[in-house]
Amino acid sequence: MSHIRSRFTIAPLRRSLQSHHSVFVDDVVRARRPDVPMHCLRPATLRAAARTFVAGFPGTTLYAVKCNPDAAVLRALWDGGVRHFDCASAGEVALVRRTLPRAQIHFMHPIKARGAIREAWERHDVRDFVVDSAAELSKIIEETRHRPGRLGIVVRLALPKGGARYDLSGKFGASVDEAIGLLRMAAACAGRIGLSFHVGSQCADPSAWSRALALTADVLAGFGQPVDIIDVGGGFPVSYPDITPPPLTAFFAAIATGFARLGLPATTQLWCEPGRALVAPGQSLVVRIDGRRGDHLFINDGIYGSLSDAGIPAFRFPCRLIRADGTSIAADQPFVFFGPTCDSADRMDGPFVLPADAQEGDWIEIGQLGAYGASLRTGFNGFDQSLTVEVDDSPMLSTPGFGPMAIAA
Ligand SMILES: *Cc1c(COP(=O)(O)O)cnc(C)c1O
Repeated sequence: MSHIRSRFTIAPLRRSLQSHHSVFVDDVVRARRPDVPMHCLRPATLRAAARTFVAGFPGTTLYAVKCNPDAAVLRALWDGGVRHFDCASAGEVALVRRTLPRAQIHFMHPIKARGAIREAWERHDVRDFVVDSAAELSKIIEETRHRPGRLGIVVRLALPKGGARYDLSGKFGASVDEAIGLLRMAAACAGRIGLSFHVGSQCADPSAWSRALALTADVLAGFGQPVDIIDVGGGFPVSYPDITPPPLTAFFAAIATGFARLGLPATTQLWCEPGRALVAPGQSLVVRIDGRRGDHLFINDGIYGSLSDAGIPAFRFPCRLIRADGTSIAADQPFVFFGPTCDSADRMDGPFVLPADAQEGDWIEIGQLGAYGASLRTGFNGFDQSLTVEVDDSPMLSTPGFGPMAIAA
C-alpha cells in the first residue's frame, strides 16, 4: 500500500504571517486553501494532556504509541513529561528510540517476532516484555540471550467483555490460572515481574478498573508472592458529541483504591498505558466538500483515510464549517459524510451537524481525531496525500478532568 504523505510544518507560514503570533486553523485554511485532507496538530494541547496524566495518575504513565506515532506527537508528550513508551512492534521501538533517545521503552505486545525481541533487547535497551503464554515466555528468554537478571516480564491477564466502546478481550490475555503459572515461571528467571490488563478502549466506567484489579487480586492470591509491576493498561475515555465521560480523577481514584487493596509492598510500581486520552484532543482534520446531494456531503477523506472510526465503529465527531469568506450561519442540520473512494462502505453516518447551506468548496474541521486517525491512513484508490500543520487552537471538545488546554498552556 503506497503511503505518500507530504508533510509541511507551519514554520514557513508562521514566518510569513506574523512571527510572534499564534496560528489558528482558520488562518491556515484561508492562506493555504488545502485541497487534500489537512491534519492540524495542537502541540500545546498534547503537552497539557501529558502534564495532566503525569501529575494526576498515581503511578507511571506509558504512552501507547500505536495510537498516534507521529514524531511531533511523541515530542510534545515528552515535553509534557511522559518518559515511558508502550510499543508493540520493532518499527515502533526504533521510531521512539530515534525520536526520543532517552525514552524508556516497554514492549507490550503479547506475541512478538523473534527478530523484534532481539532488536529491542540488543539495540534499543528494551527490558520489559509482555507475555500471555508459556511459549512466548520461552521465546523471550531464548532471544534475550539468557541474561534474565535484567529482564522484566509482565503477564497480561484476560478480562471478561466489559463496557468499553472497543472491546479488547477477544485476542490477548491469560486466564487467572494461566497467569499464576506464568508468574511462577517468570519469577524463576526474570529480574522483575508484573501483571497487566486492558479494559478496552474508550471505557467510560471507572468501575471497570476496580473489577479488573479485583481479578488481579485473585491472581496474586494464587501466586502467593508480591509482584514488582501492576499495569492497568489504557482505555481512558475522552469526550465525543454523544458522550461526556466522568472526570479523569474518578478513574485515577478507582485505580488508586483498587491498587491499595492489593496490599503490595511500597516498591511495587503502578503503570498505565493511555493512548486515546493523551492524544485524541490534540489533532483535528480539515476536509473539503467536493460535492453535495441533499444531506449527503462528499468529502475528500473517509474510512480509508483518517476517518475509519466514523465508518463501521460509528463514532461521532465534533465538526464545524469553515468558509473562505468567513461567513457562517448556525449549525443545525444533520449530514451524512461520504469519503472519496469508490467503495460504498466509505460512508460515515454521524450525524454530523453543520450549517444548512454547506456546499462544495467549503471546508469542515473535524475534531478529536488525534487518536487512531492519521495513523490509520491508507493510500487506497489513490487518495494518498495529506498535509500536517501545527496550530494553537484549543481542542474542539473538552474532556472533564483535563482542565483548560488553552494556547497559553
Ligand atoms: C491500544 C493499547 C493501548 C491504548 O489504548 P487506549 O484505549 O487508546 O488508551 C494500551 N495498551 C495496549 C496493550 C494496547 O494495545
